[in-house]
Amino acid sequence: MTSPTASQAGEAIIRRSGSDGVAASPSRPATQEVNWNLRYDIHLGATWSRFMDGLRQRKLLANSCASCSRVFVPPQAYCESCFEPTAEWLELPAEGTLEVYTVAWHGFTGGPTPPYAIGGIRLDGASTLLMHHVVGVDFDSESDPKDALPFGTRVRAVWAEERVGHVLDISHFEPAS
Ligand SMILES: [Zn+2]
Repeated sequence: MTSPTASQAGEAIIRRSGSDGVAASPSRPATQEVNWNLRYDIHLGATWSRFMDGLRQRKLLANSCASCSRVFVPPQAYCESCFEPTAEWLELPAEGTLEVYTVAWHGFTGGPTPPYAIGGIRLDGASTLLMHHVVGVDFDSESDPKDALPFGTRVRAVWAEERVGHVLDISHFEPAS
């Protein structure tokens, strides 16, 4: 028995897909229900555990690299530029500048009521951006979001009433003025 040549195989494929038209043009896109309700614990490690414990106490803790002086929040075990272990810990103010964001028009489980922004916030004194929700902005789907929330807007953290050592101990950020 011999194998079909490349051209023979190609002809077979063309005939098969074009013979009845069912596979090539389904009557409507198919959907399947999927449930991904996964519940598990992750090990945060020493550095993030200290950060989370600070949040529980309404403190935004950062750490810095002794070699390049960059300040990380969330803190990091190692400097990503120098590959040196971070050393000094410091507390940053719960206020900073919104440098980048996108607007969520649809809600997610456990998230704020849309529309809201998901933003990269540079806390005063930080070298990195902290990602978090920004709420309290009157977004209009017909207008440019930057009209309601310009890049560079000053924002401040709003603490959750009950804090448990979780990133949502900061409920959200809001415009500072
Ligand atoms: Zn460094």
